[in-house]
Amino acid sequence: MSNGPYGQTTCRCGAVSLLVCGAPLALGRDAGGEPVSFWPLVAIQLGQGADELEVSPSGTGGDAWQCRRCAERLLLAHDDDDLAVLAEQEGADEIAPALTPVQQRWLEALGYRVAAGE
Ligand SMILES: [Zn+2]
Repeated sequence: MSNGPYGQTTCRCGAVSLLVCGAPLALGRDAGGEPVSFWPLVAIQLGQGADELEVSPSGTGGDAWQCRRCAERLLLAHDDDDLAVLAEQEGADEIAPALTPVQQRWLEALGYRVAAGE
């Protein structure tokens, strides 16, 4: 992987995109078994669509970042723990987790499972 942005994630309708830089803190699964990655909030930047981005409390101690047009949730952010959760592609490379115990507890409380890595 290059030194550039890790990647870009775009909602279904394409109105909102996020730029993601650096390396994830950990990979895992959400409560429904879908692959996700966990990031420091500073790694996430809004690429486009500031007018379409809606940030609202998710009811789980975090904020959901969602597109107003297609209602796709792009990100779950937790300001207090400096943590963001992104949907991930299947087959992402395994990495060793670098989460703090507080971050990990919050994720587990939401039903996320953190991949152990090696
Ligand atoms: Zn959209």
